[in-house]
Amino acid sequence: MIARSLIKKAQNATEKAFPLSAKREDWEYLGYVGAAIETQSGNVFTGINLALLCGIGFCAEHSTAAMIQAGETQLKRMVAVAHDGKVLPPCGRCRELIYQLNKKNLDAEVILDEAERSVLLQTLLPETWQKRIRV
Ligand SMILES: [Zn+2]
Repeated sequence: MIARSLIKKAQNATEKAFPLSAKREDWEYLGYVGAAIETQSGNVFTGINLALLCGIGFCAEHSTAAMIQAGETQLKRMVAVAHDGKVLPPCGRCRELIYQLNKKNLDAEVILDEAERSVLLQTLLPETWQKRIRV
């Protein structure tokens, strides 16, 4: 799958978040995001964020857990997109999440912007804590 198609799938996923969030007065502040992940086998999984108060929400990358249920943990590429179409690099927590799912994900391509600029996850997560200790 090309990067443009993956970006479009992530943006389409934000539409699923909107009905929930549209009822909230604070939605403009919290925003909503979709994510699309292409696995090494070529399957694509999408997710949406839940921007809830009291810190109980989660990022769109977290709700792509269906890939784990499908028995996959190794990514080929990933992208997160805000409802307005802006591509968002993953937050630090999501970078760590993707890494911990499969260490080979350090070689996953992360799409950074609408121009389809991308880097490998290892560029965004250069000093993993697991290099320092045995787990
Ligand atoms: Zn995140």
